[in-house]
Amino acid sequence: MDSITVKTRTRQCLMDITSEVQQYLKSHNLISGIVTIYCPHTTGGITINEGADPDVMRDILAFLEKMVPHRGDYRHAEGNSDAHIKTSIIGPSVQVIVEDGRLMLGTWQKIFFAEFDGPRSRKVWLKWLQG
Ligand code: ZN
Repeated sequence: MDSITVKTRTRQCLMDITSEVQQYLKSHNLISGIVTIYCPHTTGGITINEGADPDVMRDILAFLEKMVPHRGDYRHAEGNSDAHIKTSIIGPSVQVIVEDGRLMLGTWQKIFFAEFDGPRSRKVWLKWLQG
């Protein structure tokens, strides 16, 4: 298993990590298979969505904030229950098909690290399955 480090700069953000994952494939000469991109944190997740218009990321974060406000009727003493809930909605991982050494993403798709309790230094685990 390999990992990449993501440094987030705000409490909540969606960071495009597509080029880091592509670089991992290139540096390990991985040509055909499946890469799993997994977040081992309880207040950060991984998702795939549009990377062309940054307003899409803004709208996703704004909608999540409306659904799960930072301050609410929560019991978790750490004060970051919204981050835990948003993380469960987004999910911890994605899998992407790799052909000819390239991530098989749709034209507008990018892989995002979803930060809900930053800024922090985060790990993203990568696992390769040859096929
Ligand atoms: Zn917590």
